[in-house]
Amino acid sequence: MNDKRAPKIKKKKIALVAHDNKKRDLLEWVKFNREFLKKHELYATGTTGKLLTKEFDLKINYLQSGPLGGDLQVGAKISEGNIDLLIFFWDPLEPMPHDTDVKALLRISVVWNIPLACNRASADYIISSPLMHEKYERFLPDYEDYKERFKEKLSS
Ligand code: PGA
Repeated sequence: MNDKRAPKIKKKKIALVAHDNKKRDLLEWVKFNREFLKKHELYATGTTGKLLTKEFDLKINYLQSGPLGGDLQVGAKISEGNIDLLIFFWDPLEPMPHDTDVKALLRISVVWNIPLACNRASADYIISSPLMHEKYERFLPDYEDYKERFKEKLSS
């Protein structure tokens, strides 16, 4: 597998998602960090995004509500290289109708080496990293070998 780098970026595309029992946590975290977050391009699943707009003066790109496909939309953006950081406060104590989508989003974040915070402590560590303030060249996994193997399977 050949290693590549994502383009260096300073203004980051940040996705914000919180399950219902975690929305309070996310609101408090965003309140604390809102001036910094304003400098970046923000995306959020439907209900999370509406709450954030209602509470704070933030420009947010809304996606669908999570259970209606919002998590999958975030995942699709990640696989297209259009999200640089995911703050995803998911609820470990409640079964969700869209558990499969949650798992898919967590998985695709790892596939594309996206920084991912699933709780406030991790989000604090990430947002206070010096890398948030500078251009960061993210290691971009190269899946050419994987695609080649798939092509071989098709042709055999
Ligand atoms: P919501 O979706 O922001 O629409 O509540 C979040 C989720 O359930 O993933």
